[in-house]
Amino acid sequence: MPFFVPLWWPLCAVLLVRIASLPLASTWYRRTRDRHDWANPDVLPQTAREWLRDRAAALGVEIVVTDDRAKTSQNAFYPRTHTIQLTAEVAYKADPTAWAVAAHELGHAQFRRRYPGVVAVLFATQVPRLALVRVGAALALGNALFGLPGVTTVALAVLVLHAVLGWYPLVEEAYASAWAYRALRDEPAITPAHRRAIRATLAGAFGTYLLPRVAIAIALSQWWIVRAITGDGRLGELAALTGLGRAVMIAATAMAALAAALALSPRLDRALGRRIDVERHALPLLGVKLAWIVMQLAVIALVWDLRGDAAWAWCVMLALAPVVPQALSLVLAPTLLALTPVLLLGRRALVALAGPGLEHSAAYAAARARGEVELLAGNAAIGRIALRNPRAVTRAERALALHALAFVPLYVAYWLT
Ligand SMILES: [Zn+2]
Repeated sequence: MPFFVPLWWPLCAVLLVRIASLPLASTWYRRTRDRHDWANPDVLPQTAREWLRDRAAALGVEIVVTDDRAKTSQNAFYPRTHTIQLTAEVAYKADPTAWAVAAHELGHAQFRRRYPGVVAVLFATQVPRLALVRVGAALALGNALFGLPGVTTVALAVLVLHAVLGWYPLVEEAYASAWAYRALRDEPAITPAHRRAIRATLAGAFGTYLLPRVAIAIALSQWWIVRAITGDGRLGELAALTGLGRAVMIAATAMAALAAALALSPRLDRALGRRIDVERHALPLLGVKLAWIVMQLAVIALVWDLRGDAAWAWCVMLALAPVVPQALSLVLAPTLLALTPVLLLGRRALVALAGPGLEHSAAYAAARARGEVELLAGNAAIGRIALRNPRAVTRAERALALHALAFVPLYVAYWLT
């Protein structure tokens, strides 16, 4: 692919910016937080957990504290269970950086309570995002095969919409941080140095949301690379399926029909569900899923230049949508492999840049020891809380899950013509 060579470096640069954005922002955040943590001794009158207790209770919000022994240990607000999760390193520290994190999570609870309408809109905007990125990427990737005029522009429009919707959660993050700062600013124990630490912590945390979105915007601004790879007018190369190709087509169609029968027949589904223990048969089920993905990719590869018309091209491009992550990994595998040394070096650099970790003062150790029972309870409960969190599937989500059926038109077109 000689046309690809001059485009390789810009493509690498764009990928690197996107891949590095979150680790960079996270490292910067932890470094900032650690620095301010060490600069301020843990001498506030309360730990973050104690500061939060009554304020959370007033909103009907429960608090659970977890550490590394839990399945997931992070600082988060779970709106569906009205629960704030704090890590032990935040909960048991009487430090302004810990207060900032705890207050930020309470800010999320405030936002949800005060602006249910805005929350509903925010949530609704997030539902189509997955479908948008899949379809956009499928069109961009598919049109590299066909070079149909206009399709790459449609793909860009779809991906820009996806990226724009990705900015909405920042509204809530910004609100939670602003609320946290206002709540802490006037606390009697908070000094000007504490206020600086709180501002820096909140700003650093916001950066972990902001930077990845900026990286996506930068990546999309370099769309000329995709355009240059796609080119124009490669539609029209005709080919025929070999015997093996026909066999793949028949097997894939049979698998699709079986999947459809399973999806449509609750009785069959229940009967199989009783016999198939999803946990115990995780490996064979993964095998079936992998076989299905390979089959889909094989079908697309076999038929992409079979017929020279635009309707056929659209069918093939849409069929890519359900398998776009796998197709992209295949296409980008050589580039990612070449980037591996850079990524490894980058990781070492980030480790070197990382801060000293949080200050484990004697006050912290004592508070943490006092909280051991609460910690054990939190570690045990968080799985259930996180499990209750994935909410019931909405009708809109059900409708959007239909993008998984984007391969159907191609199969129908193949067997009908
Ligand atoms: Zn947040």
